[in-house]
Amino acid sequence: MPEVKKSVKTIEVNYICDACGHGMMEQRGEIDPASGDHPHACVICGHQQSFKLTYPRILYVEEEEGTQGCA
Ligand SMILES: [Zn+2]
Repeated sequence: MPEVKKSVKTIEVNYICDACGHGMMEQRGEIDPASGDHPHACVICGHQQSFKLTYPRILYVEEEEGTQGCA
């Protein structure tokens, strides 16, 4: 299989705190083995919330595709 190169766009996905609406949620601590949730805390107000995914998260998408289909 030959090497294939393509141009990709880097996208950072952040989750803005539901409590204060300003801070970004950051992963804190270990994943909960029972629920599979990742604990996060707001960098500004400290509000804690768990997500199935981690934030911030880096996505790579093809330049032509834009942001469609990369949820
Ligand atoms: Zn907050």
